Amino acid sequence: MPSDTLDQFLNENLQELKDQGLYNEIEVVEGANGPKITIKGKELINLSSNNYLGLATDDRLKEVAKQHVESHGVGAGAVRTINGTLDVHVELEEKIAEFKGTEAAIAYTSGFNCNMAAISAVMDKNDAILSDELNHASIIDGCRLSKAKIIRFNHSDMEDLRQKAKEAKESGQFNKIMIITDGVFSMDGDVADLPGIVEIAKEFDLITYVDDAHGSGVMGKGAGTVKHFGLQDEIDFQMGTLSKAIGVVGGYVAGKQNLIDWLKVRSRPFLFSTSLSPADVTACTKAIDLLMESTELHDRLWENGNYLKEGLKNLGFDIGESETPITPCIIGDEKTTQEFSKRLYEEGVYAKSIVFPTVPRGTGRVRNMPTAAHTKEMLDEAISIYEKVGKDMGIIQ
Ligand code: PMP
Repeated sequence: MPSDTLDQFLNENLQELKDQGLYNEIEVVEGANGPKITIKGKELINLSSNNYLGLATDDRLKEVAKQHVESHGVGAGAVRTINGTLDVHVELEEKIAEFKGTEAAIAYTSGFNCNMAAISAVMDKNDAILSDELNHASIIDGCRLSKAKIIRFNHSDMEDLRQKAKEAKESGQFNKIMIITDGVFSMDGDVADLPGIVEIAKEFDLITYVDDAHGSGVMGKGAGTVKHFGLQDEIDFQMGTLSKAIGVVGGYVAGKQNLIDWLKVRSRPFLFSTSLSPADVTACTKAIDLLMESTELHDRLWENGNYLKEGLKNLGFDIGESETPITPCIIGDEKTTQEFSKRLYEEGVYAKSIVFPTVPRGTGRVRNMPTAAHTKEMLDEAISIYEKVGKDMGIIQ
């Protein structure tokens, strides 16, 4: 007999979300998530994926994945610590360490689960975590799970961080203190001040953790934000995902051997969740190989990002202060932003609106994620659709 209490809870809360316009209808992409997608039979220029380098649909990765379905099957068969560590998992972890310039690395089944796993394996209730106020949800949840005291600092504000680090250190209350930040912030495309963070960490002997989900493949000629600043020997945790620029699925931490050894015996999703499938793992290794061999895809991503930014800026749109290919188009008012995104969709561009509470009230934006796989023709078409909709709605002259 289903629970009446559950039914009532779900129905009331779902209705409330719908009444407030906060219920997220999920759109289904028919086929692959490439530079163009099809939704309900309509072809759209896709400016909303995290497939930065276009590798999610790359033939070379598909070929490797197919070969390993044949040789290794479709599943790993067990958790990593029973007998789900296959040769291909070890090869991927060695490749990640080489790519990131660290002694070792550990792979998880997703970036989200990696943050939950790694933070809580090292930090506990006797510790404190200094966390940028705009950090990703998976960092926030990982911090909560650890039971450490969470101290939020103002976004990329090194004065505020230094003050809070000093207070935490001088209080003598904590065994360990960690600073944790995104490498690239995905809503605005700004880059964390890692040199500033490292300086403060050194001054107070703090642990450093960088989630480079949006920086890997994008910054540092592809190797990430830590490499961009030449700080491979200074950051303790280089966390990243295999699901964005790498194009597949999974997450990882790269760092010193003793850190990785510890995560392998203490992080619960590694111990109790079945490992990544062989096809996924080998496609990731191939992607990293491609990134290490050539910066061609990385260069094309930046070229396309700059092209789109230039085009939208010339039309008179406010594209914020992004330092990466992420191109927000800031509209302001929430309703107008949503209407703008809807009109773009009708004209053939898929670019999601992002509004309060994800970004501050009054800074609603349509966020564009150009990739290496977009052609100039696609970007030109998208820019001319932006022009049409922007003029129709009176957002630009
Ligand atoms: N960290 C950040 C900064 C992210 O943007 C994301 C993905 N949205 C994740 C972690 C989670 O990664 P994954 O999608 O691989 O679980």
